[in-house]
Amino acid sequence: MLNIVLFGAPGAGKGTQSDLLVAKYHLNHISTGDLLRKEIAEQTELGKRIKSIMDAGELVSDDIVVEMIDKAIEADTQGILFDGFPRNVAQAETLDTLLSKHGRKLTCMVSLDVPREELIRRMLERAKVSGRSDDNEETIKNRLKEYEAKTLPVAAYYEAKGLHIKVNGMGDIQTISQDIISRIEALQQ
Ligand code: AMP
Repeated sequence: MLNIVLFGAPGAGKGTQSDLLVAKYHLNHISTGDLLRKEIAEQTELGKRIKSIMDAGELVSDDIVVEMIDKAIEADTQGILFDGFPRNVAQAETLDTLLSKHGRKLTCMVSLDVPREELIRRMLERAKVSGRSDDNEETIKNRLKEYEAKTLPVAAYYEAKGLHIKVNGMGDIQTISQDIISRIEALQQ
């Protein structure tokens, strides 16, 4: 059973590549960003608490996302693609604990490598159509700052475990997807 973390800065193409990977391997797509936005859209108590944090481009507290991930692993039978989680080293450590609690192991962490200027360009482009309240210039800069300070160390965490696969996230969507798939296939040989 595959359990994969898809990693990258905001705007790196995680959502797009997730869709292709999920279709190829029939995985459950667990995006913490999507789950959190759903809470906001449904105006739940949690949604009301986290809206201003997300609008500011900051990370919500670990407890909130960890609970979501725990439930998702519990309910899953086919393998998971984690998108937007883990976002810091503490979340990465918790993921190890949660996976082993359910008798699973992480297959790999795939990171999409995209230069900063291109990330900003893509997010501003997406802002024109996404309707996301955190796709504006000020919040984008804060999201990148959070990424660099808190999320980037997660790559070194998986590197040390020999689980980090770095992929060039620039260029044609299908070519990037093929690259990811061939690296995953190589692990299974
Ligand atoms: P995303 O859709 O992955 O870009 O996430 C959008 C926003 O949701 C982030 O800027 C954070 O505010 C929040 N978020 C998503 N995933 C996490 C996570 N694993 N930990 C903390 N906050 C998160």
